Formats: sequence, structure tokens, C-alpha cells
Amino acid sequence: MGGCDKIASKFRSKSKTQPAKKERVARRAPSPAVSGPKLAIVLDDLGNDRETAEAIFALHYPLTISVLPYHAHSTEIAEEAQRRGLEVMLHLPMRAVANETPEAHQLEAGMSGEEVARALNGMLESVPTASGVNNHEGSLATTDAKLMRELMPLLKQRDLFFVDSRTTAATVAFEEAEHAGVRSGFRNVPFLDDVQDVAAIRRQLELAMRGAKEKGAAIAIGHPHAGTLQALKEVLPRAETEGVHLVFVSELVK
Ligand SMILES: [Zn+2]
Repeated sequence: MGGCDKIASKFRSKSKTQPAKKERVARRAPSPAVSGPKLAIVLDDLGNDRETAEAIFALHYPLTISVLPYHAHSTEIAEEAQRRGLEVMLHLPMRAVANETPEAHQLEAGMSGEEVARALNGMLESVPTASGVNNHEGSLATTDAKLMRELMPLLKQRDLFFVDSRTTAATVAFEEAEHAGVRSGFRNVPFLDDVQDVAAIRRQLELAMRGAKEKGAAIAIGHPHAGTLQALKEVLPRAETEGVHLVFVSELVK
């Protein structure tokens, strides 16, 4: 048993990892043990780099990782993260306005319900331990109500929650998720690492903690950059002493 297993068991009370069905029901229940402001940190774009994933596991915090499908280590990282007691999401690629770096598979405007279902099924096979979904890019796709109305009932059927990454102010993804009865939430504090500089990311983390205190709960999103991991290492030990509870994002979706 390494340190990670200890951490995993420490957080297991809040986030049982198996069986999947039971776990989701358990997470839906309020957790009276934890009161006060809550902060969930989602780290996006995992899947390429095994070592970065290990560095995240080694932080020993209840972080949520969101894994891009069909990358070299997507499945492996998703499975290992679950074993280590972290929460896993599918980072679902969606069409961006500029679309400069499209993923090989992404949701596109005009896809039929059947096409969306086929795409989603394949992606979930690649990220099999996902308990929820958030959008990668998607500044065009998340503004497309018709496309979001094809997607959300599929998430509902699979008992997956949805977090709107809010890559555009014009997104309708969260509303459509709610409308379809999907447990959902949205990023409600600024991205952590638009500027990849440790000091800047520290400030964004402070903002996220302040956001959690002001709103009661905050969902922050960052990326597995070295600077982000360094800033997390420096700032997170202070979170609990300031009364901000770090939680999995599944605890904040409603
Ligand atoms: Zn992304």
C-alpha cells in the first residue's frame, strides 16, 4: 500500500469508486459531514502523457481528471486514476469556432442523434471509468441548442453528469443539460492557467477559493501543465486551513 492508496481510502467515504451505479447514487446524497465552502478542481486534457498523470496522482488531493478519448494513454490513465481514488470524466471534444486544433473525433453541428450516440459510445469505451462529461473546446458546438439536445438525453440515459466548461459566454450546454434532467454544473470561476506562469496560476487558485467562499461552491478548471501542478502543490495545503473543502466535481453537480 503506497501513499496514494491511503489517500484513496481517505476520500473513499465521499467517493466510492465501485460499483459505478451505486457510487453515483451515493454521491447524489448530501454529505452532512462536510459543511462550508466547497471547491472542485477539474484537470482537463489528460490522455497523452503517463508521467503527467502520475504527477497528478502524486499530489494526493481529491482532484477530478478529464480525459480526452483516443489518445495514446487515455484508457490506461482513466483506469489508473479510478484505482487511485480520483474522479474521472470524459473530456468530450466539441467543435470550436476557430477549430485550430481539432481532435480526430469531435461533436459537429448537424450531426444526427445516431451519429452523436455512436461518437459518444466510442469515446466512453476509450475513457471507460468516466462518471461525467465536460466539453473540450466547443465554443461553437456548445452554442448549438440542437446538437446539445441530441447529446444531453444520452448522458441522462447513461447516468453521466455534465459540467459546462464555458469556453464561450454564448454556451447553452448547461441549460440543455438541466432541461434534459442531467445532473449538471458549470465552471463558475476563471480558468486557472490561461497564463502558464506559477505566480499567475497561484492567483487564479486564490480567486477560485474566494469564489468558493462567496458562492458556497466553485468549479475550477485547469490543465496538466507543470506550472499548474506546481501552483496546486503550493496553494492547496492552505485550502483546508482556510475552511475550503476540496471535493470531486460530482459533489457539486445538481
Ligand atoms: Zn480541453
